[in-house]
Amino acid sequence: MSYISIPAVQDLGNVFLLDTRHMGGEGKLGVYLLPGASGKFALIETGPGSSLPSIKQGIQEAGFALKNLDSILVTHIHLDHAGAAGELAALSGAAVYVHERGSKHMHDPSKLMASAERIYGDAMDSLWGKMLAIPEEQLHILKGGESFKVLDHTIEALYTPGHASHHLAYLLNRSDLFTGDAAAIKLTGSSVIRPALPPPDIDLELWQDSIETMLQANAKRLMLTHFGMTEDVEAHLMAVPERNQEWADEILQGMQEGDDNEGLIARIAALGNAELLADDAPPEVMKRHQETSNYEMTVMGVTRYWQKHHPEVLEQEQSLL
Ligand SMILES: [Zn+2]
Repeated sequence: MSYISIPAVQDLGNVFLLDTRHMGGEGKLGVYLLPGASGKFALIETGPGSSLPSIKQGIQEAGFALKNLDSILVTHIHLDHAGAAGELAALSGAAVYVHERGSKHMHDPSKLMASAERIYGDAMDSLWGKMLAIPEEQLHILKGGESFKVLDHTIEALYTPGHASHHLAYLLNRSDLFTGDAAAIKLTGSSVIRPALPPPDIDLELWQDSIETMLQANAKRLMLTHFGMTEDVEAHLMAVPERNQEWADEILQGMQEGDDNEGLIARIAALGNAELLADDAPPEVMKRHQETSNYEMTVMGVTRYWQKHHPEVLEQEQSLL
């Protein structure tokens, strides 16, 4: 089997996909570049601060100059999606579009950074880098449901919570839907769709509603941040809540059986790795997947979901003991 390599810049017709090469790895985390007239362009997602050199290089390789960056649209404020927004906005003066529940953290990222530091500790800087504050006058705050122009393009913002309470998907020219993490993860080289279930906001019921919202958008293509384009729109979207439920139920079973944290991580790793092996995923694709939907984060996100939204399923078990 040959090694699956991913180009640094892919031309997808009307948009470019830039690979952030996050932590030196290929095909895990993307940024989309939307061209406009006279050299201007917009970005959908920015990647993290630690990937800025690759992002700048990708912009150049696609034929654009950073000073012509007009707008930045982030699906949500997790560091892998929006971490570099502050620096890119400072270098270009670009407008930054974000959901109202995420905007205060873009204006003052100190709380967001502090909570990420609690989770990632010493690895914080090399993993995610810095996030700079964005001046209020550069922020364009959305609720979802808006339709607006970016350069010559029509964008519709769809409110799609479930992965994050402030998550937006963006529909470009009624055709391409930029799904952030709301349509989960699918990497080149495997047909497996993997859940994106980190803390602190996971809500599977809200996520189900967001899938309906995205189905109703009737997009022709899905543009996943992790990673790339798929034309299999309906089947992909319908699979997402099933995959989420499978992983969440696996972790619930462990919680009910009294697994400790290590046990829960081992349990979901066994399931996730078995799925990839059954799909004949090459070793490099398995590794990319393991780094993208990290098992430790999955356990943190899902245990919190069960405890917060369905404490009854945990109490039942305890009362039987
Ligand atoms: Zn996310």
